Amino acid sequence: MSKLDLSIVIPLFNEDESLPELTDWIAKVMEREGYTYEIIFVNDGSTDNSWAVIEELRRNNENVKAISFRKNQGKSAGLNQGFKAASGDVVITMDADLQDSPEEIPELRRMIIEDGYDLVSGWKQKRFDPLSKTIPTKLFNAATRRISKIKLNDFNCGLKAYKLEVVHNIDVYGEMHRYIPFLAKNKGFDKIGEKVVQHQARKYGTTKFGLDRFINGFLDLGTLAVIGKFGRRPMHFFGAAGTLMFALSALLLAYLGIYKLWALGAGVEARLITENPLFFILLALNVIGVQLFGVGFIAELLLRESTKKHDYTVDKKIGL
Ligand code: UDP
Ligand code: MG
Repeated sequence: MSKLDLSIVIPLFNEDESLPELTDWIAKVMEREGYTYEIIFVNDGSTDNSWAVIEELRRNNENVKAISFRKNQGKSAGLNQGFKAASGDVVITMDADLQDSPEEIPELRRMIIEDGYDLVSGWKQKRFDPLSKTIPTKLFNAATRRISKIKLNDFNCGLKAYKLEVVHNIDVYGEMHRYIPFLAKNKGFDKIGEKVVQHQARKYGTTKFGLDRFINGFLDLGTLAVIGKFGRRPMHFFGAAGTLMFALSALLLAYLGIYKLWALGAGVEARLITENPLFFILLALNVIGVQLFGVGFIAELLLRESTKKHDYTVDKKIGL
């Protein structure tokens, strides 16, 4: 079988009303452009008729493929599963709710193939979402830009295009779907572009994410920032912090000891070292220092055991 031009991965949770319209629209664009393609629906434990609708769509269009989770696992898990199944030269992700337009696909594909981008992210410059979502989103994007040093305006846009190699090398877990460009960059795919895309108000159903998305989002950003830098060498992080604590406690100890000796020699009345408040700070620093080293050591052990130890993104090979 020759390779497909496009794999379109669509995670969905309770979107039965949107699916037929979305599928027709995608098929129309694909036929017009003459692409070979597959639509991979990942049914994320929907409790409505989504799965039955997908089965029906498959009967009329054999480019429709689907995976179903037994229960709701979240959008990241859906994307991850879809990525594993994808085989097209270019992989597109889009939401199932008709907010993203399939008309964007040809240009997104062109940017990957001709301009050589690893990843192109949609930018909903003109959004049709409530203010309660657009304002925190601005903050979220500003923070992510700063920390990831990727110049994107809209990290969490559901509409994105990837080289196949990229999706086969990233692991979207937890709620990391918000940070896929950051995940890609951490794996060495740093040719990341952006395209302004049309956005529409949700036609059917309701949003699946509440306000907690922002709190969780910022926690995940912190995790990614640390993992990107120290994920493969945790001891450098914890060990450095532990050493700092030890150094401080050693300084305090030296100060207390020298002062005591000087006081004895000079005949000045000196308190017991254990009566000096500094002594307790010294003790605390010591305990924290040992703990930091311990945590670093355990992290290194875990890393040794983990199968992902050698999970580097290989770029080129000769003779293998
Ligand atoms: N989604 C999913 N699993 C979930 C939540 C959402 O697969 O647990 C899908 C949802 O069906 C949609 C996409 O992720 O296709 C984006 O969700 P939504 O439109 O609710 O997010 P918003 O546009 O409000 O950010
Ligand atoms: Mg939506």
